[in-house]
Amino acid sequence: MSSPVTAAPAALKQFQIPFFRPTIGEEEIQSVVETLRSGWLTTGPKVRKLEQQFAEYVGAEFAIAVNSCTAALHLALEAIGVGPGDEVLVPTLTFASTGETVMHLGATPVLVDCCADTLCIDSDQIESRITERTRAILPVHYAGHPCDMDQIQEIARRRGLHVIEDAAHAIPAEYDGRRVGAISELTCFSFYANKTITTGEGGMVTTNDRQLADRVRLMSMHGISKDAWKRFSAEGSWYYEILAPGYKYNLTDLAAAIGLHQLEKSGQFHQRRAEIARAYDAAFADLPELKLPTTRPEVGHAWHLYVIQVDVDRLTLNRNEFIQAINAAGVGTSVHYLPLHMHPLYRERLGYAPEQLPVAQSVFDRIISLPIYPTMTAEEIDYVAATIRQIVESHRR
Ligand SMILES: *Cc1c(COP(=O)(O)O)cnc(C)c1O
Repeated sequence: MSSPVTAAPAALKQFQIPFFRPTIGEEEIQSVVETLRSGWLTTGPKVRKLEQQFAEYVGAEFAIAVNSCTAALHLALEAIGVGPGDEVLVPTLTFASTGETVMHLGATPVLVDCCADTLCIDSDQIESRITERTRAILPVHYAGHPCDMDQIQEIARRRGLHVIEDAAHAIPAEYDGRRVGAISELTCFSFYANKTITTGEGGMVTTNDRQLADRVRLMSMHGISKDAWKRFSAEGSWYYEILAPGYKYNLTDLAAAIGLHQLEKSGQFHQRRAEIARAYDAAFADLPELKLPTTRPEVGHAWHLYVIQVDVDRLTLNRNEFIQAINAAGVGTSVHYLPLHMHPLYRERLGYAPEQLPVAQSVFDRIISLPIYPTMTAEEIDYVAATIRQIVESHRR
């Protein structure tokens, strides 16, 4: 990998060590320039190549490139036939997309609490949330730690439900030796700017089911049938047929040009992320005031995020004050997430109260996401670790 372009424009230099920097090399830049010169800007040969390579990478039969993970989720839910009156089980500790795409189809997201350690959906609580309207379970591999897929699959099989994975954090992640992307009926990935590999904006759906793959592809492009195109006319002719009211969710070749290089480097990116996680683990191991990320033995963690939980009962500052102290030292942070059930949309439209999902509610007061990305230098990792240690040590109760 050539040296990444790390110089940030002034506007991004808010922190000495930002929460995130994308790792974009000269290869990506050259490839975008070549694509621009080629004259083929939107969906074309580079998208097809990215789909093939991504399918191979996760070990799935089919991969359909789209312009975001949000689009991927929408299409996956549509493909299994989710519609008005249906319910889909969604973890409350997730990004907006996971719930909103269910609502886009007229269905209702039913929120499930998280495990206190992995912060993934608590699979022991899934069954109690199933009703006769439930159609699917939509687990999110939080931070890149795969959910308990054996238990989720077992419940789904027994109760006749579909499983769609939100794998926005999970390139590459493994469960029981299998790559995420080859486990469930449908898996949705994100290539958003701050994800583990990026195309600026972009996403992918993977599946082993040809019918689902065909439906996702059809609906990603206006419901226009390519088969009809081939059946009735020579390749490249003007003829096409609209079979369904589809969406405009296709990925561009400009984006795929970036993605092909990012996918190639994803092993190196992942190795570096794992090293940073181990460095933080070691640096914080003797601080009982911090709860560190757990890794269950059956999983390979993607380390998209490194989320600490600060024990506010043992410290003289709360989570927000802790964040202010980190930021004051020049280090960027984030919080993943304000649980969905605590947002106005879910409180007002669906009647949730904060205490209804108590683990997520209490975890929310403790979580802080620290910088973790391949271009962090050893000095930067040490500085972040020293900053956190210093804040803990000077605010013990
Ligand atoms: C980023 C993210 C998404 C949405 O990804 P986009 O590609 O930005 O649409 C969905 N789910 C989770 C958990 C995410 O973190």
